[in-house]
Amino acid sequence: MQSFLNLLDKSENCVFLSGAGISTFSGIPDFRGSNGLYAKYDANRIFDLAYFHKDPSYFYTHAREFIYDLDTREPNLIHRTLVIMEKKGYISSVITQNIDLLHQKAGSENVIEIHGSPANHRCLSCGENYSYSDVRDLLEKETVPHCTRCNGLIKPDIIFYGEMLDETAITNAIAVSSKADLFVVIGSSLVVQPAASLPLYSLKRGGTLIIVNNMPTPLDEYAYLKYDELGDFFNHLSSYFNE
Ligand code: ZN
Repeated sequence: MQSFLNLLDKSENCVFLSGAGISTFSGIPDFRGSNGLYAKYDANRIFDLAYFHKDPSYFYTHAREFIYDLDTREPNLIHRTLVIMEKKGYISSVITQNIDLLHQKAGSENVIEIHGSPANHRCLSCGENYSYSDVRDLLEKETVPHCTRCNGLIKPDIIFYGEMLDETAITNAIAVSSKADLFVVIGSSLVVQPAASLPLYSLKRGGTLIIVNNMPTPLDEYAYLKYDELGDFFNHLSSYFNE
């Protein structure tokens, strides 16, 4: 751990990339783990745009269990430590694959959500915007929320399969990664794009890659340090920053 702390002290531009592994500590199931959501639901349907148009109730019925219950989830030690590190100037940005809003709830300011976010929803017919809590209210009355203006179908601003990525978020993520002299991956197996290639932008400019994940990743051979235990890693980090 000391070697990581030394790198962190020297770093002038440190970026963290977080994946589903960090949310499991808040009781949110990982998508790809053995008890993951994809073992329970059909991943090819739940976040598939074409299927959403065909049968939006499939998404909304299941999403009640892991998206529309997020106000009952609390940020954990990992989210809170990242906030302290940002406030103390050790982190410039957090890029996240997560759609659970927990970095923001904890108080992180520079968060880039590369898979979108359920904080905003939009009517697919007239473009009217709905907040997360608007949609939660609508879901108490109907299985699939419809636009109160035009009765169109409402979709969260989460990036579904078959959908264009959010260009602004991706451009920002690439820009901060390209500037990072220390790039720390936490709780991501780096198998999904665009997250999988973001560390390469840092490596290309001579940055140092650190991976903290309990499963192998395709970029392990490029990592200067690799840790398996996310919980231990953050226990150390948090005691260092709370001193
Ligand atoms: Zn509408």
